[in-house]
Amino acid sequence: MYVFKTQNELRAYLTDKQNIGFVPTMGALHDGHIQLIHQSTSENEYTGCSIFVNPTQFNNQHDFDKYPITHEKDMALLLKAGCDFLFLPVVDEMYPEGIKTQYSYDLGYIDTILEGSHRPGHFQGVCAIVHKLLLAVKPTHLYMGEKDFQQCMVVKRLLELTSMTVQLIICPTLRDEDGLAKSSRNTRLSSSARQQANGIYNCLKYIHDHYTTHSFDVLQQNCLEQLSTLGFTTEYIALADANNLTIMDTFDIDKKMVVLIAAVLEGVRLIDNMRLN
Ligand code: AMP
Repeated sequence: MYVFKTQNELRAYLTDKQNIGFVPTMGALHDGHIQLIHQSTSENEYTGCSIFVNPTQFNNQHDFDKYPITHEKDMALLLKAGCDFLFLPVVDEMYPEGIKTQYSYDLGYIDTILEGSHRPGHFQGVCAIVHKLLLAVKPTHLYMGEKDFQQCMVVKRLLELTSMTVQLIICPTLRDEDGLAKSSRNTRLSSSARQQANGIYNCLKYIHDHYTTHSFDVLQQNCLEQLSTLGFTTEYIALADANNLTIMDTFDIDKKMVVLIAAVLEGVRLIDNMRLN
C-alpha cells in the first residue's frame, strides 16, 4: 500500500489510473470503515482511503482534541483489507488558505435541520474537505456509510453543486453485537458507559417495532425517558422522510421513513439512525 502525504505525490501516482474507489475517513478505523474498503476493492481496480481529522467540521474544540488517532493500527487494517493507497495529509496540506475561511456551499434545507442545526458549520466543513479530497483523488466511486445518513445527503448535494461525475455508493451501518453502531468515538466511552451505549440502538429498534401501533409522540417520549435513565443527554429523536429528510410529526406509511437520534453519553456525542420501512 502506498502512503502519500501531499496532493502532488498522490496525483503523480494516480495520473494513469482510471477506475478508482475512494473511502474518506477520519481514521481510528473499525470494521465499519473496512466494510467500505472491501466494497470498493470488489468494485474497482484501485481503492484508496484518506485519513484526515478535518478541523473545519468540528464545532466543538474538545471533540476535535479528543478525536482518537491510531495511524499504525489503521495502516495495518488497510493493508490487510487490500487498500492500494492511503492519503494522510496534515492540516496545512489541505488548508493552505488556513482553517478560518467561511465556506458557503448552497446546501439549502438539509443544512438547517438535525446535525445542521445542532452543529452549526459542520456540513460546510464536511463539504470543504470532501470537495478538496475529490479534486485530489478524482475517484470514479465514492463510498460512504449510512450511519451518517444526513452526511450522505449533503454529499449528494455537493456532487450536484459541483457537477462532479463520481458515483456515490452508500453502505449499510455496521454494528457491534449489542446493536451499537461502530464508531471511532466509541473508544472514548468508559466500560460502564459502553454497556449503556446501545440504548440508542434499542430506542431505534423500539420505534421500528412499534410504529404501526403507536404514535410517534408516545414512542419519542418513551425513548427520551429511557435514554435519560441510561445517562444520555438527548439532542434529538427525529422522524423524517428518508428521501429528503423532511421532518415528520407522525408516521406515514406511504413515505419511506427514517428515525434519527443524536445523544451524548459521558461527553461523547453519538448518532445513529434506522429506516422504518
Ligand atoms: P468517519 O471516519 O467517522 O468520518 O467515517 C468515515 C466513513 O465511514 C463515513 O462515510 C461513515 O459514514 C462511514 N462509517 C462510519 N461508521 C460506520 C459504520 N458503523 N457502518 C458503516 N459505515 C460507517
